[in-house]
Amino acid sequence: MKFGGTSVGSVEGVKRVSELVKLHSDQELVVVVSAMGDTTDRLIEAAGLMEGGKRREGEAKVKELEEMHRSILEAIDPKVREGVRKKLSSLFEELRMVLTGVYLLRELTPRSMDLILSFGERLSTTLVHGSLKGLGLNVRMLTGGEAGIVTDSNFGEARPLVEATYHQVRRRLGPMLKKGVIPVVTGFIAADQDGATTTLGRGGSDYTATLIGAAIDADEVWLWSDVDGLMSADPRMVKGARPLKSVSYEEAIEMAAFGVKGMHPRALEPVMEKGIPVRIRNTFNPDFEGTVIGKGSEVGTVKAVAMVKGVGLITVSGAGMVGMPGVAARIFGVLASRGINIRMISQSVSESNISMIVAAKDLYRAANALELELLGGRFVKQVETEEGLCVVAVIGSGMKYKPGIAARVFGAVARRGINVRMIAQGSSENNISFVVKEEDGEEAVRALHEEFNL
Ligand code: ASP
Ligand code: MG
Repeated sequence: MKFGGTSVGSVEGVKRVSELVKLHSDQELVVVVSAMGDTTDRLIEAAGLMEGGKRREGEAKVKELEEMHRSILEAIDPKVREGVRKKLSSLFEELRMVLTGVYLLRELTPRSMDLILSFGERLSTTLVHGSLKGLGLNVRMLTGGEAGIVTDSNFGEARPLVEATYHQVRRRLGPMLKKGVIPVVTGFIAADQDGATTTLGRGGSDYTATLIGAAIDADEVWLWSDVDGLMSADPRMVKGARPLKSVSYEEAIEMAAFGVKGMHPRALEPVMEKGIPVRIRNTFNPDFEGTVIGKGSEVGTVKAVAMVKGVGLITVSGAGMVGMPGVAARIFGVLASRGINIRMISQSVSESNISMIVAAKDLYRAANALELELLGGRFVKQVETEEGLCVVAVIGSGMKYKPGIAARVFGAVARRGINVRMIAQGSSENNISFVVKEEDGEEAVRALHEEFNL
């Protein structure tokens, strides 16, 4: 069971989480804990302030974090509370030392950042561990590294060395589980082969949970958060949006990419290989069974409609592009060398233009780079940009080999008078994505939700 930041973000939250663990403690169980609330963001801010020489402001942020974490002590049985308070104090003392180092050096490397971020999960896990202990459960706290998660040294977005991780996790957690001990593990953080603290990328606690689940051959991995499951659409946009009962791994990956729930993009890899089901559940509505992500999936062609805002369109065109091998490679190469991520691509068979969707913040940088490198050459005659757009995506693996879905998608959108600027569908047919004006996005989502009776 992994508990997300909002689930452990208050006294009631920690109490509720602890009761849920207790309820299931007759089974072999591993608990993974995320940082409380927005702690990770606040640690990033504090570190940035220290690096910029703003010591007082940085220290004030740490003070706020300390007060917030101390307020949670109330959730913990008085018998063990003092011990936990001491642990919190020593963690904060250590955090302050590290941040003072950043301030003195005016230097914040990705490696130091990972160490700083690790305090978020170490603090929250200390509290949850204390609370579970107070309930009389046989628990043992471990950092991700201590639990056996080994990564490369790509600080900030470290990749687990999967085989080594599985081996170590099994070796370390296996005997505890046999003895009836519940390991309580910090999410998000791990260690490289030299023992330096690394992090798995934002939202990485999900990944911690699925790695451990795969290592110990868990029956299921439960990701507890503050939503009822993966939704058919964003409930803020569509009144009738509902949680899905079951989705396939492929569909869940599509949804994660569209931010349907902030799931770590690689989190499903470990469990998918082993066919271990993942359940998304709500700590605030624990009687609800949530969404199961697994091999099968509930019937229905289209499962969900999603939207990505804040994107820009670039169109590169020129008659000289027709029939010329290597033009696409050059275009993508230019963007890759600037570290610009392409979200969506479309080229018609006439080959006289290629359209791409990038994040709005990258739009002008991308266009400038393409102009600089490609204009004046033989192939490309024009680079155009367009802002104020969004991507709408229809997701569902049932669309595969099924004629007529695209017709319904574009028919529904057309009936609302919405113009479609660009379209892409990969041959996996899990997803049809198209681009419309930003102000038309929500309307398009609603039209599709209705069309497919979601
Ligand atoms: N605390 C980390 C983050 O906010 C990891 C997580 O929440 O899963 O990104
Ligand atoms: Mg988080």
